[in-house]
Amino acid sequence: MIEFDQVQKSYQVGGRAIPALHATSMTIQAGEVFGIVGHSGAGKSTLVRLINLLERPTDGRILIDGENITDYSAEQLRALRRKVGMIFQHFNLLSSKTVADNIAFPMKLAGNYSSKEISVRVAELLARVGLSDHASKYPSQLSGGQKQRVGIARALACRPAILLCDEATSALDPQTTQSVLQLLADINRELGLTIVLITHEMDVVRRVCDRVAVMDAGRVVEMGAVSDVFLHP
Ligand code: ADP
Ligand code: ADP
Repeated sequence: MIEFDQVQKSYQVGGRAIPALHATSMTIQAGEVFGIVGHSGAGKSTLVRLINLLERPTDGRILIDGENITDYSAEQLRALRRKVGMIFQHFNLLSSKTVADNIAFPMKLAGNYSSKEISVRVAELLARVGLSDHASKYPSQLSGGQKQRVGIARALACRPAILLCDEATSALDPQTTQSVLQLLADINRELGLTIVLITHEMDVVRRVCDRVAVMDAGRVVEMGAVSDVFLHP
């Protein structure tokens, strides 16, 4: 469970504090697929990046499974990043590393996995995302959908409980979007991960999300079951 307790975030721009997220309280339940929609600049990315402390809140508390993460030490932060995986619109793969090495990278960073454990886990993840035949390729040799599958496998490497998706399908064509969404839905169902997903595509929300928050100008202006929030188009 992810709880926001009066969380506020401002960015310093030219010596001034510009609010990107006004005081927000909300709860994302364990195991749900939670969508975040809203115009560009609404604060979606800020809200999501607070969950793994890629951004630090200016005020308020964020709790994961009841634990306040907001004043985590550097060491606790490393553990948090293993617990909270993230995938990105532009995949953020390392171009000089193979598919297998991209997926292995967070496990190597974590430092507590043997090379045997890493190779077994990488093979398992390659199979899960349907890329077993592509382990030795480089990202430049893959399609967009394949690159995002590598991103998903990398995000799952350290067995996170939460997966954050920042416009993860926005760079993909409709058919590839469908197959990546299906993969995310399978991961949610089979592995029980909580998924927090930013999107501007209503179709994505209808297909995979249990609940949705609508953001506008740094505020959550509506939140609820997808069918309730979008009952009246
Ligand atoms: P969204 O994801 O909905 O497009 P963001 O969370 O990226 O919204 O941005 C919310 C607001 O915060 C915007 O006005 C944006 O310009 C501003 N912002 C985002 N990141 C930064 C940053 N690193 N520095 C300064 N302003 C930022
Ligand atoms: P950047 O400035 O590129 O965001 P980071 O230090 O945040 O650099 O991330 C380094 C690499 O790890 C990037 O390729 C990024 O995609 C990936 N990464 C960052 N945060 C996470 C996360 N929570 N889960 C999985 N991968 C992550």
